[in-house]
Amino acid sequence: ENVTAAQWSPNGATLGTIDLTLPDNQVFGQDVFSPAEQRKRLPKSVYKQLQSTLENGEALDSSLADAVALAMKEWALEKGATHYAHWFQPLTGSTAEKHDSFYGPDGDGTAIAEFSGKELIQGEPDASSFPTGGLRATFEARGYTAWDPTSPAFILENPNGALLCIPTAFASWTGEALDTKIPLLRSMEALSTSAIRALRLLGDEQSQRIFTTVGPEQEYFLIDEQYYFERPDLITTGRTLFGAKPPKGHELDDHYFGSIPERVLAYMLEVELELAKLGVPIKTRHNEVAPAQYEVAPIFENSNVGSDHQQLTMQVLQTVARRYGLVCLLHEKPFAGVNGSGKHNNWSMGTDTGSNLLEPGATPHSNLSFLFFCTAVIQAVDKHQGLVRATAAGPGQDHRLGANEAPPAIISIFLGRELETVYTAIEKGEAGEAVPGSFLGLGTDVLPPLPLHGGDRNRTSPFAFTGNKFEFRAIGSTQSVALPNTVLNTIVAEAIDDLSAQLEEALKGGASLEEALRPVLQKSYAAHKRVVFDGDGYSEEWHNEAAERGLLNLRTTPDALPYFVAEDTVKVFEQYRVLSERELESRFDVFTEQYAVKINIEAETAASIARTLLLPAALRHLALLKSAGVESLTSETQTLVDEFVTVIKALENVNLKENQEDEPPAVWANFLRDSVIPAMDAVREVADKLEKVVADDLWPLPKYSEILFIK
Ligand code: ADP
Ligand code: MG
Repeated sequence: ENVTAAQWSPNGATLGTIDLTLPDNQVFGQDVFSPAEQRKRLPKSVYKQLQSTLENGEALDSSLADAVALAMKEWALEKGATHYAHWFQPLTGSTAEKHDSFYGPDGDGTAIAEFSGKELIQGEPDASSFPTGGLRATFEARGYTAWDPTSPAFILENPNGALLCIPTAFASWTGEALDTKIPLLRSMEALSTSAIRALRLLGDEQSQRIFTTVGPEQEYFLIDEQYYFERPDLITTGRTLFGAKPPKGHELDDHYFGSIPERVLAYMLEVELELAKLGVPIKTRHNEVAPAQYEVAPIFENSNVGSDHQQLTMQVLQTVARRYGLVCLLHEKPFAGVNGSGKHNNWSMGTDTGSNLLEPGATPHSNLSFLFFCTAVIQAVDKHQGLVRATAAGPGQDHRLGANEAPPAIISIFLGRELETVYTAIEKGEAGEAVPGSFLGLGTDVLPPLPLHGGDRNRTSPFAFTGNKFEFRAIGSTQSVALPNTVLNTIVAEAIDDLSAQLEEALKGGASLEEALRPVLQKSYAAHKRVVFDGDGYSEEWHNEAAERGLLNLRTTPDALPYFVAEDTVKVFEQYRVLSERELESRFDVFTEQYAVKINIEAETAASIARTLLLPAALRHLALLKSAGVESLTSETQTLVDEFVTVIKALENVNLKENQEDEPPAVWANFLRDSVIPAMDAVREVADKLEKVVADDLWPLPKYSEILFIK
C-alpha cells in the first residue's frame, strides 16, 4: 500500500496524491503510532471518536484519553520502549524531552508498566529552565505540556532501548504559549477560517477545512569527526572562527549534483531509513554547491506535522553522522568564504477536498480562485516584510543574508515572467476584456501556462512563486520552520480577509464574480507590486532600487527582531489570536538574548583560541625563524605577531563582563554587533594571515583544505 502525503494531514485529507517512492515502504512509519496502527489497536468506537475529533479540530474528550493511552503503551512496549517523553519545542528552536519510565513498583517486589490518559494528555516539566522572555518575570515558572493528537506519537530507538515520544504543546500555567507549536496550530486554524470564508465567496461550497503545507529543503555540511574534535570553535559555536581560504574552493563547481562519496551515501541511506521509520517522507538528496555540503528534502505535509518532522530530520542527520565517523554541521555559516546553509520553506494551502489553492487551474474559474489567493500572499508579504525578514533572523544568518550567495536581507517576491504579465494586465485593467485565446479574459479565458519550477530561474529571490507554491528561501539551516510558517499563515489570513471583505462588498450590487473580483485584485496589486521583483537580488542596483521602492533592508539580527513587536505585527497577531502582545514581546526578548549570548560565546571562544592556541604557535614559529637567522621572514612574522597581540587585547577588552552587565538585551545586542563582532573579525584577519606563514606542523587547527576535502 502506498502512503501519500495526504495520510499525514490530521483528517487524512488528500493534500496531493504524490506516492512516496521510499527505499522500503514496509519500513515507512513503522515507528509511528499512525492512524493505521490506532485503527488496529483501538476499540472501533474510540477510534472513530478520535478521528472525528481531529477532523473537526475539536477539543479531545478526556474519556478517550485512557483508551488511547492504553493502546499507545502496549504498542510502545512491544517496540521495546521503556520510557515515554512529552516531546516539545521550546523557544530555543530545538526540541526538548523529559523521560519518564513506564514502570512503577507493584508492591510485591516487581514492577508494572503504567501509563494513564492523564499522563498522555498532560505533563509538568519545570519551565524555569527554558527561555520564556518576559513571561517568566511575573508568572509562575511552572509550565505544562499538552498532547497534540494531530501529530502522531513515535518511537526513538537507541542501541540500549527505545523512547516513546508524544508530540506536545508547551504553555505556562496561565495559558501563554512557551513554544513554537501552539502559535503554529493557532495560525493554521486562523488561516483555515479565513480561506473557507473566501472559498464560499469564490463559489466553493464543499471544502470544510484548509491546511497549510510545508516541504522544507535542508542544507548541511558533513565533516570527518576527527577535524571536528580538533576545532574548539566548531565544538563550542558550531562554526569555524578561524581558517584561511583554501587554494581550492568551489570555483570548479565539481561538487554540486556530483556523484556522492561512498561514506556519505551510506550515511544518507541510513538517515533516510531512520526517517522513514519515523514516517518522515524524505524524497530528495544531493550534493550542494560547497565542498562537503549536501541537501535533503521531504515530500510536503501539513504545517504542523511537517514542522515536527523537520525537527526530527535535523536530529537524525546529526545522530546518524556519528555512526559513520562524521559530524553534521547545521550552522548557517560553518566556513567563511564558502557557501552557507539555508532551509527552503515551500509553503502552500490545501483544501480537505484535495486541491491546492496556489495551483493555477485549467479552468477560468479555478484561475480566479488562484489569483485571489496568490494576490493575498503578495499583499501580506509586502505589508509585513519586516516581520517576514525577522523570522529568518539569527546570529548565523547575519553571515548569509545579504552576502553574495544567499537571498538578500531585502524581502521581495519573484513571480516569474508569465505571472507577472498577468498581474500587469490586471493592474492596467486589461484583464476581462475578453481577447480570445489570451489570458486577458480573466474569467472567460485561461491563464497562460505557468511553468512548474518557474522560480528556479531566479535563485536570488528570497520569496519565489515556484509553480504551485511559494518558496521562502531566507530561512537558516538551524532554524525551526514553525515560526516562519506561523507568520506566513497569520499574515495571509489577514490579507485573505481584507480581500474577502472587498469582494463581498463588490458582489452586493449583483456583479458577477469575475466583475467583482477584478477591481479588488487590481487595487491590491497596484498597492503592493513594489515587493515584486524578478531581477538579480544580489546586485548593487537592486539594493538601490529597493530603497527607492521603500522596501526594508534589515541587514542584521538586531535590526530585524524589533519587527516581532511592531504595531502591525501586534495588531494582526492579536486579531487572529495567534500570539498576544505579551507572547510577542517574550519572543522578542528571547531571540534578542539568544543572539547576544551566542555572539558573546563566539567572542570569548575566539579570544581564547587566539591567545592560547594560535599565538603560541606563531611565537614558536618566530623563534624558529630567529634561530635560523632568516632576517626578512623574521621581521615579517614579527610584525604579524605584534599586530596579533594588539587585536587580541582589543577583543579581550570588549569582551569584559562590565560591557554586558545590567544592559537590557537589545542594548547589549547592538554593542555586540557594533563593537564585539568587528573586534573578532580583526583577530581573525591576522590569524588567517599567520595560518599561511606558520610552519604547518606548528599550526594547531586543522585547515579548511583538510576539513572540506577529505571525505
Ligand atoms: P524545487 O526543486 O524546484 O525547489 P520541488 O518540486 O522539488 O521543487 O519541491 C521542493 C519542495 O517543495 C519539496 O520538499 C516538496 O515537497 C515541496 N512542495 C511541493 N509542493 C508543495 C506544496 N503544495 N506545499 C508545500 N510544499 C510543497
Ligand atoms: Mg527548492
